[in-house]
Amino acid sequence: PGSAFRLHDLIRRQLPRLAGHPALVDQGRNWTYAELHQAIVELAAFLRTAGLRPGDRLMIVGENSAAQIAAIFAASELEAWAVVVNARLTAAEVANIENHCEPRLVLCTAEVSDDAMRHAQARDAAAHAVGGLVFHCTPANADATVEPSFAGSARQVAVLIYTTGTTGQPKGVMLTHRNLGFSAAVSAASRRTAERDHVYAALPMSHVFGLTSVVLAGLSAGATLHVVPRFDVQHLRRALAEGLTFFQGVPAMYVRLLSMADGGQAVTAPRLRFIHCGGAPLDAALKNRVEALLGLPINNGYGMTEASPSICMVPYNRKCDDLTVGYPIPNMETRIVDEEGNTVAPGTVGELLIRGPNVMKGYYKAPELTAQVLSDDGWLRTQDLVRQGGDGACYVMGRLKDLIIRSGFNVYPSEVEAALNAHPAVAQSCVVGKPVAGDEQVIAFVEPHAGASVDAPALQAFLHDRLAPYKRPQRIVLVPQLPAAQSGKILKKAVQDMAGLL
Ligand code: ATP
Ligand code: MG
Repeated sequence: PGSAFRLHDLIRRQLPRLAGHPALVDQGRNWTYAELHQAIVELAAFLRTAGLRPGDRLMIVGENSAAQIAAIFAASELEAWAVVVNARLTAAEVANIENHCEPRLVLCTAEVSDDAMRHAQARDAAAHAVGGLVFHCTPANADATVEPSFAGSARQVAVLIYTTGTTGQPKGVMLTHRNLGFSAAVSAASRRTAERDHVYAALPMSHVFGLTSVVLAGLSAGATLHVVPRFDVQHLRRALAEGLTFFQGVPAMYVRLLSMADGGQAVTAPRLRFIHCGGAPLDAALKNRVEALLGLPINNGYGMTEASPSICMVPYNRKCDDLTVGYPIPNMETRIVDEEGNTVAPGTVGELLIRGPNVMKGYYKAPELTAQVLSDDGWLRTQDLVRQGGDGACYVMGRLKDLIIRSGFNVYPSEVEAALNAHPAVAQSCVVGKPVAGDEQVIAFVEPHAGASVDAPALQAFLHDRLAPYKRPQRIVLVPQLPAAQSGKILKKAVQDMAGLL
């Protein structure tokens, strides 16, 4: 995108050709590109009157909906920052984000119930119907500081998006119009997204994967998005049967699809042409079973909020025999380094550094944290351990911080998790290190499939032939459910805390 590019251009530039083409299907209602554009214009006018100024934060609380999409683009029209917050967070979590981002206005989409709505109603939010959408709008903070705006520059912040919080407190990542425009274009091009596509938008837009790789990429390609407020596997089954062409999810969604199929419900997907999995490690057992069920290669992708999000992608519909995340995206530089910052030999594991148009502006209100990961010359430390083979294909070995060093040996939790997940009774697992007497123990938490019967000794026996002795967990703990984020991603920090209590 050029230096004047702004997010709402993604919609505006579709109008000459696609005005009457369906952009969204939301709760049975169709929105053409022209109708979506009109809603954005009306909502922007409303928000301007309500006091939203360039550089202000607009907090948008809701679940995936046409209203949420329109609000993100309306904020962009006004040069304000959109802060999308998932309504399924607790009131306390919403309040944390609100205190951190200090929004001028809080917009709740009408579909929202539960904690988030009570939270807004407690402050007398007024209901407004704008552009065919209904919102509750609260003037939140008359004293909020305004961030400097660069008059329509693509390097201005467009969204403030919070990381998952897998390793601790979520961080507020500032992504610019250019970051998002570039990333959406790369996603759409690599997936060959086209106007005829029906894209399932179930990943929450409060997370960058759902926002960029699904919503912005889909709309930038002129496709039709099927907006899903909450993932529900029965809904997905119907959508697949009715002609969905595109599905992008996190591993937990595929796990649920497989359990449904195991329960005897047939899955038919006559027009499906692309399936993507990202956001968390994919394992071989899951990959093979999904590919057999849906008859397509699963496209494994790696990214992070700070990279808006894509870092590596597998080429379109290439069948991979292993768990590669593919190749670094175009226009982005990479280096893999050791602890001293020296480039490692090809095939050696090290920390991945990246530089390019997808790299964030920084963490909001956290300059020290930003300085720890982002250098003055634009290199971002991913804090992920990556190995790149001679042919350029990359493998994510896990996070730098998660590496377990047991009696001097490196244990990659993802490798142990993959071995556990290969057991038919295991739905998911999470492996963490527990510091004990100057060393680290390997502890595995395992969530069995509902109704499956398995115990720790059986799993230990299963691992015996699959992992070297130092990689085998000292302890395997079965739990009914692993702690997970809204996206389905396992919260490693919470599991580490559980290990600490053992
Ligand atoms: P926080 O930064 O708050 O601790 P988080 O890192 O989980 O949370 P996200 O930005 O949502 O927040 O996730 C990015 C991370 O997810 C990456 O840094 C990487 O560790 C992991 N990840 C993403 N995709 C993959 C993948 N395909 N395979 C393995 N790991 C992945
Ligand atoms: Mg992170």
